[in-house]
Parts: sequence; C-alpha cells; structure tokens
Amino acid sequence: MSLVIQKFGGTSVRDHGRRDVAAQWVHKAVTEGHQVIVVVSAMGRLGDPYATDTLLGLLQDQGQPPLEERDLLISCGEVISAVIVAGHLRAIGLQAKALSGGEAGIVTDASFGDARIIEVIPTALEDLTAQGIVPVIAGFQGRTQGGKITTLGRGGSDTTAVALGAALRADVVDIFTDVDGIKTADPRIVPEARTIAALDYEEVFQLANLGARVIHPRAVEIGRQFGVTIRVRSTFSESLGTLIASGQGTLDPWGHRDPDHAVTGITQLEHLMQFRVAPPVGMHKDWAFRLFMSLGERGVSVDLINLFPDQVYFCVPPEKTAVTAAALDAVNFSYEAFDDRAKVSIVGSAIQGLPGVVGRVMAAMAQSDIEILQSADSHSTITLLLHRCDMERAVASLHKQFHLAEEVPER
Ligand code: ADP
Ligand code: MG
Repeated sequence: MSLVIQKFGGTSVRDHGRRDVAAQWVHKAVTEGHQVIVVVSAMGRLGDPYATDTLLGLLQDQGQPPLEERDLLISCGEVISAVIVAGHLRAIGLQAKALSGGEAGIVTDASFGDARIIEVIPTALEDLTAQGIVPVIAGFQGRTQGGKITTLGRGGSDTTAVALGAALRADVVDIFTDVDGIKTADPRIVPEARTIAALDYEEVFQLANLGARVIHPRAVEIGRQFGVTIRVRSTFSESLGTLIASGQGTLDPWGHRDPDHAVTGITQLEHLMQFRVAPPVGMHKDWAFRLFMSLGERGVSVDLINLFPDQVYFCVPPEKTAVTAAALDAVNFSYEAFDDRAKVSIVGSAIQGLPGVVGRVMAAMAQSDIEILQSADSHSTITLLLHRCDMERAVASLHKQFHLAEEVPER
C-alpha cells in the first residue's frame, strides 16, 4: 500500500469552505487506496483569529517573553487547526485523529523558535494508519527530549511534512498551497510567472533559501538527504504542480547552454539591514578577524559579506540591528547602518561558468535604472542588494531579461 503525506498551508484551511476543498483531497487519496497522513498549518493569515501572526500579536505589549513560552503560545495555532481539520474529515465519513507534533513523534533540539528535528519516532502514526485512521498532525512544532514544546521557524510545517515523509518512507509528500506550484518568480510580483513542472532539490533549495516562501528551505534539505519525492501544488486547482526529485528539470551543466535561457527562477528577500564598517585608524591588518569574532560571539550571522582592505559591507536581518551595533562598538569599529534594503537573486544550475549571464543581469538593472549596492554569487546563483523600493521592478526586469514567461526551449 502506498503512503501519501498531504500538507495544507494556512490559506488552504482558513475557513470552512476551503477546509472542505482540502478534505476532498484527503478523501480522494483514501478512496484511491492510499494510506494518508495530513499535516496542517495554523488557519489563515494575520488578522484571522488563530493565525500564527495573530497569536504573536498577543505578545505585543509584553516586552520579550521567554522563548519557551512564545513557542508554547504559537504552537496552539496548528493544534487548533489539526483538531478542526480532523473533525471535518470525520464529518465527511473518514476516520481521523488530531495529534500535536510531539504526539506524532517529532523530536527536536531545544532551540526554541527555530528548533531542528533530531528524530522522528513513527510508531504512533504507523499504528493509526494501520487501522485506517488518518492522522492529522499539527505542523511547525515538535517536542524536546525533555517534553517541552518547540516550533520549527517560519514555514516549518513543510519541514514537518517532509521529515515525516522521510521517516515513514512515504511515496510522495504533497505540499498543498495557494499557488499552482513553484513558479519562475513570486506571482504577487510577476503575475505572468510560469509554473515549473519539475526541479531537482538543489535549485529549489536555492530559491527557498534566497527568499521564495513557497517551500521551507529545511524541508528541501531533508528531502534531498533522504530522497523524498515532493510535489508543490494548489489546493484549489487540478494542476499537477511542481515535482521535486533527484535529476529532475536540470540542464546538463556541460551541454549546450544559452545565456538567454540559463536561469530557472528569480527570488527576493525584503527587509535587510546593510552595514558599512571600517576599523579604527591604525589597527593591525587582522581587523576583519576581530570584527567577525565579535559578531560571532554575540550570535550574529552575517550575509552578503563584501570585504575590502579598508572596509567591509554586510547585511543582517533587521531584528539583529541592535546586537550588531553592540558587537561593533565592543571593538571600536565605526559604521553606518542602512535600513530598507532588499536582495534579489537569480537561480539556475546552468549559469555556472557561462559567459554573458552577469552582463544580462546588469542590462536588466540598467534598463530599469536600478542602483546596485552589493553583489554576491555562487555556482548557481547571483544576488544583488538593492534599495527596497527597487525590489519589485528588479524582479520583473530580470524575469523579462531571461525570458522566463516563455515556454522552456527543448533541453
Ligand atoms: P502556505 O501557507 O500554503 O505555506 P506560503 O504563503 O508559505 O503558503 O507560500 C505560498 C506563497 O509563496 C505564494 O502565495 C507566493 O506568493 C509565494 N511565492 C514566493 N515565491 C514563489 C515562487 N517562486 N513560486 C510560487 N510561489 C511563490
Ligand atoms: Mg509556507
């Protein structure tokens, strides 16, 4: 018998009508003879009563509550959702049972707010599925070995689903969401973005890690590590979505390549804080060592480092601004901080060593009169740091430059 994991995101379980559409997918899979395990996110988005951001809003006037308690609070959103969805499944004639992440066997480390799964104990789920009962699991959460409730970070329900898929050797993990699949860009910015039929883990990981919210990067990592077949698809359409599996969709990096069509997707990340930092006059040339030690000791992880003999630029998330400033003050470095930066990236495993790609990126920026503040690249990505106000135009311009709205030519 095959095992299917179906994960439903917040918009897919937002209200009774949408939950009914989601429930029909479960019904269909059960009727087709699959064992099914359901993972759910909290219902809806900010403003909806039990959405994660709404629950976080309750803490607004409370300063910084202990992270443990914050996790205890926000884990409730998924628990509520699991109970309501399990009830809905019973109402349409299926056998179903709601479980918290901990009850489902998700064991994590104790990094509250951003915990990592260290083990999945599958026995409870195996018992239920063997009896023909559909477990409905609260996503985004687990428990520590000591029994404390933890959460897995934004988008963590995707990770719950793929980790369960790995532990239980599921045939496929379906990530049901509000878009047709992984697209060539965020459709909120580029409405004509095309759904990509199939991709390897690597490119999806890069897209997710560089900001595409559609799937959690850690879910992709676990998928790659354990060879879990993942499909990202819409709850609200019959479209097959995007298949993610090894060897899918990538160009032969050594074959014929065309810089006009070498890019797979464009992605963006808003709200970065950029720092320009200089050492005190006369400091020994090991200044960069002192600087990054000071940042590391305070738990600041920096991004987009551009280092020169007399200064360095880097970025941090806005919530790390104060601690970054403290780390710089501690070693007497001078600095300027700029808020409202955004980064825009192109991703494509075929861009490696291909002449003409950077030129096209620069052409897109020049045509749209966009100032580039920093850049970075890897074998399959090029990232630009921009003023936040230029972000949407940059994404649209790159999408056009690399012909991403057009059907992919024969590969
Ligand atoms: P869910 O609640 O189902 O997990 P998310 O909001 O986390 O949904 O992810 C879906 C959203 O991801 C889409 O509505 C879309 O705006 C956004 N998104 C960003 N980049 C992409 C992309 N490349 N392809 C598809 N969707 C994307
Ligand atoms: Mg999500």
